Amino acid sequence: MRKASLYIISLLATLVAATSFSSTAFAAEEVNLYSARKEALIKPLLDRFSAQTGIQVNLVTGKADALLKRLQLEGRNSPADLLITTDAGRLYRAKSAGVTQSVSSAMLKDAIPATYRDPEGHWFGLSLRARPIIYVKGKVSADELSTYEALAEPKWAKKICIRSSGNIYNQSLVASMLSHDGKDKTQRWANGLVKNLARKPKGGDRDQIKAAAAGQCDIAIANTYYLGKMIKGKDPSQQTAADKVAIFWPNQSGRGAHVNISGVMLTQAAKNRANAIRLMEFLVTPDSQSWYAEANYEYPVREGVEWSDLLKQWGSFKADQLNLAKLGQNNAEAVRIMDRAGWK
Ligand code: FE
Repeated sequence: MRKASLYIISLLATLVAATSFSSTAFAAEEVNLYSARKEALIKPLLDRFSAQTGIQVNLVTGKADALLKRLQLEGRNSPADLLITTDAGRLYRAKSAGVTQSVSSAMLKDAIPATYRDPEGHWFGLSLRARPIIYVKGKVSADELSTYEALAEPKWAKKICIRSSGNIYNQSLVASMLSHDGKDKTQRWANGLVKNLARKPKGGDRDQIKAAAAGQCDIAIANTYYLGKMIKGKDPSQQTAADKVAIFWPNQSGRGAHVNISGVMLTQAAKNRANAIRLMEFLVTPDSQSWYAEANYEYPVREGVEWSDLLKQWGSFKADQLNLAKLGQNNAEAVRIMDRAGWK
C-alpha cells in the first residue's frame, strides 16, 4: 500500500514536471523557476537574463503556500531549481521543510545585507517591504504616533484596522516584537491591540487602507506597496482613498520600522545548479534591483540602488536590523500569542 502510494506520488510529480515545462523542455541551457510573484512582476527581468546569458528560464507561477506544498510533494523529482516567494516566515518554512539547499556566493553576500539573508545560505532577499502605520490625514496627526507598541494604548480604542492573524505578514510583525520585547510584553501588546480594533479583521492589507479612508478606522497597518498599487493603479476610487492617508514610520528613535523581504532559494532537487546561481546573482545586480523594486513598489535590498520617485516621496526611514531568520524562528510563538489575544 505504502509502496503503491509512493509510486503514484512520484508518477504524479513526473507528470506535473512533464506538463509544466513541456514547451521549452529541450532547451540546452535552462533554469526552472517556481515563483509566488505574479508573472508581470518578474518575467521582464527573466527575459533580460535570457537575452544576456542565453539561458532559458522556465517560469511556473502560483500561490506561495501551494508552491511549497508542490516542492515537498515532488521531492527529489522536482523540476524546479529555484523558488521565489514572499515573507521571511515562508522562506524559513521552506528551509525547514528540507526543500532547499545552501548557496555560497561572494556576489550574493556582497550585494545583500546580512540581515536580509539566511545565515546558512538557504535564502536570499530580493526586495524589501516595509509595514508601517498608515493614518487618516486630518483625523490623526503624526505627533500622536510613535511606536507599534503605543498602538495598544487605550487612546486608540476602536480606531485600528489590521488584517487577520492567519496572515503571515502579521505573524512576522509579532515575531519581530517577540525578539525585541520578549514574550510577556508582546502578549500584553497583542491583548491591547485586539481591544483597539475597529472591526473584526477581514480582507487584505489594501482593504485596511480602504476601510480607514472610508471612515471605519483612523489607523491601518499595511505593507506600503499596497498603498503604491492604489496610487498607481487605474481605479480612481482607490486613488481617492490613498489620497486620504499618510505613512508614519514607527519606532524611529528605537529599533526602526518592521521590514520583511521577498526572496529566492535554490531547491534541494536543483538540476541546473550553476545556471540557477547565475540567475540568483543576476537578480541582485543594481539594474535588476532597481527594476524589481520599482515593479512591485518595494525597496531594493541592495544598498546604493536609487529608489523610485514614489518611495522617495514617502521618505527615508530607519529599518529594523533584526536578522529576518528570527521571524521564522519566532513564528509558532507569535501565532500562539495572537490566538491567546483573541486576534481573529
Ligand atoms: Fe503582499
